[in-house]
Amino acid sequence: MTATVAVIGGGYGGATVAKALDDVADVILIEPRDAFVHNVAALRGVTDQSWTDKLFIPYGKLLTHGTVRRDRAAEVAASTVRLASGDTVEADYIVLATGSNAPYPANLDTLDSWAGTKKLNATRAELERASRVLLLGAGPVGLEFAGEIKAAWPDKAVTVVEPQSRLLANGAFPEQFHAELRAQLDQLGIELLLGTSLRELPSSASGVAGKFTVTTDSGTDLTADVWFACHGVTANSDILGEGLSGALRVDRRIAVTPELRVQGQETVFAVGDITAVPELKMARLAQKHAEVVAANIRTLVEGGSELTAYETEGADSIVLPLGPRGGVSYVPDLGVLGAAGTADIKGTFFLDSYRELFNQK
Ligand SMILES: Cc1cc2nc3c(=O)[nH]c(=O)nc-3n(C[C@H](O)[C@H](O)[C@H](O)COP(=O)(O)OP(=O)(O)OC[C@H]3O[C@@H](n4cnc5c(N)ncnc54)[C@H](O)[C@@H]3O)c2cc1C
Repeated sequence: MTATVAVIGGGYGGATVAKALDDVADVILIEPRDAFVHNVAALRGVTDQSWTDKLFIPYGKLLTHGTVRRDRAAEVAASTVRLASGDTVEADYIVLATGSNAPYPANLDTLDSWAGTKKLNATRAELERASRVLLLGAGPVGLEFAGEIKAAWPDKAVTVVEPQSRLLANGAFPEQFHAELRAQLDQLGIELLLGTSLRELPSSASGVAGKFTVTTDSGTDLTADVWFACHGVTANSDILGEGLSGALRVDRRIAVTPELRVQGQETVFAVGDITAVPELKMARLAQKHAEVVAANIRTLVEGGSELTAYETEGADSIVLPLGPRGGVSYVPDLGVLGAAGTADIKGTFFLDSYRELFNQK
């Protein structure tokens, strides 16, 4: 191999780049977790024990030639990665793929799969003890979690509080989609309080059962037994060191060129949630970025100069389960899909294709 590629972060985007370049470069994938976490199925992993173990897919077979190094990048410069362990990795090309972070359970805050499994099982036990659940945020995470909880325990009361007056306010979806979503949420008996927020957070910790009463800005008292924050996504971009930090935007995402190079850099690329590409942040799109970046690095390694530009899809799409048999989707080519269509697409959370990515099939 003539070139070394350091890929930072082994999530959807990073693992895809690393595997695609394994035959053409010395790939070093830097990742602090002991296994890939299939985040897309994380909420089912809370409510349904049969899904908990499935969320973790080992890295062991991902690369044939390259290595997966269990460490965290502390600081990245144009051709050097300083690791939390104190070691340094030199590379001809670097791919930033550190994703974003959101409050648990949207993102697991443990690095070992055994600790992650233990935490998910403990959260399920807390939910089992609770009769009333309060979720803060009516984005995809809050709504999907509400649907999963109601599907698992139809008798629990679930309330979602959202400061915006609209569900899924970050995406642009047709009215027919919103009508179907509202109808299914009503049918499940999920209470929505939109256009308001809490005056203060509950006295108990997020995810830990314990009765509390809180008051909304509009003066409504809410009593529940457990609550979860389902909002607040932050890009994991605090690793940009000398020469790279100029690409960091105020929203903490990284400005990239159409070829997905970090702005101002020739050999440093970025993929996935960490980028400022104007589109919804999705695993599927992180993998599309990864394909473009892998093709571009391959071209450069092989002496070429004609790089591919990434093209956004132009319209938002979403596949939102509300429990194993419910949900609503909008895919521009297919239109609005209801419960059956959504369950058909996402019933198994694409698990087989991710196992295949990690050569675990
Ligand atoms: C509940 C839920 C459901 C979702 N459903 C869907 C869906 O149906 N379809 C869809 O397309 N998207 C979905 N998403 C969004 C999707 O999960 C993200 O867009 C996707 O994970 C982004 O991929 P990524 O490769 O950018 O980052 P990630 O997959 O988050 O991977 C980042 C990796 O970087 C590692 N890392 C972080 N910091 C460092 C560091 N300093 N050094 C080294 N490694 C580091 C992390 O440990 C992690 O493994 C969902 C998200 C959630 C929370």
